[in-house]
Amino acid sequence: MKAAVLNEFNGDLDLIDVEAPQVSHPSDVIVRITGAGVCGSDVHWIQGAFKDILGAPQFPYILGHENAGYVEAVGEAVTTLRIGDPVLAHPHITCGLCRACRRNEASFCESLRFPGIDGRSPGGFAEFMRTSEHALVKLPPGTDPAPMASLADAGLTAYHAVRRACGDLPADGAAVVIGLGGVGYFALQLLRAFSPARLIAVDLRPEKLDNAGTLGADLALPAGEDLVERVLQATGGAGVDLVMDCVGIAPVPEQSLAMLRRGGVYSALGADTGEACCGTLALTGRELTIKGNLVGTLGELTELAHMAVNGRIQLTQTSYPLRDANRALQDLRHGRIQGRAVLVP
Ligand SMILES: [Zn+2]
Ligand SMILES: [Zn+2]
Repeated sequence: MKAAVLNEFNGDLDLIDVEAPQVSHPSDVIVRITGAGVCGSDVHWIQGAFKDILGAPQFPYILGHENAGYVEAVGEAVTTLRIGDPVLAHPHITCGLCRACRRNEASFCESLRFPGIDGRSPGGFAEFMRTSEHALVKLPPGTDPAPMASLADAGLTAYHAVRRACGDLPADGAAVVIGLGGVGYFALQLLRAFSPARLIAVDLRPEKLDNAGTLGADLALPAGEDLVERVLQATGGAGVDLVMDCVGIAPVPEQSLAMLRRGGVYSALGADTGEACCGTLALTGRELTIKGNLVGTLGELTELAHMAVNGRIQLTQTSYPLRDANRALQDLRHGRIQGRAVLVP
């Protein structure tokens, strides 16, 4: 099969022929990929940012952790999927049995596999990918899975974070979403779907702010040094109840904490070089909450897919043929993509 492989950190992806994955465990499913989202984490992975956490990867490696397609082959224990079913792949393969899995915290599964990220399990920048029956969400018959690819990570992370934050967001309150890239694009829409609160969208790029109203924002503000001041001004000096930081780069975490009202929640979705530091005096005195978000659950992905299939959420993807994977990564690095970049093998 054709795959876009990485041979070394900081290298380009090479489109080469590699051996296609086979069913090796009775619960394995081979998915024919028709859409593989390109994530900011792929850019960081290529730069070697995850090697201290994940250990040395096995090069050549196939990235791609946001995948959709059709079932191509199933192991003998698979009962809920048939060849040809359209599916969305949850990025994690989990055991379902360990303490974390049984506590519905499967992102912390003791034997977690994370195809396209963990450096051992090949991801979806390829014609085919192996995953497990448990990780797949079956889409209704006739659904084209390719436009759904960005739900599997960007959408799911946003969904998880919004569901966890909504309870803290009063109907007469206000929330800020910073960064309208792949994740923020969903976070804003989902906040609007779940909350009547006032929503403020923030981005560096004017064209993203122009679109913020159609995603549910009441107010769009440009990012910059005076962001905290602008947000305070827009809220009568009080600050906001919730900030969803979809950037994760300084000074955004620090600005986010500064624009919260007392009792506010800082929700981190963007994993990057920023640090969310807060003195204990401020943390206790203002009763702030700092929440990190790592992907989401299978149940959440099922709910989100239902929303998308029923037109409750906008999907915007920019498609690239697999051979243009490097161009897609380049466009992502330079913020030139509306919605999500998706590779189509
Ligand atoms: Zn990702
Ligand atoms: Zn587990």
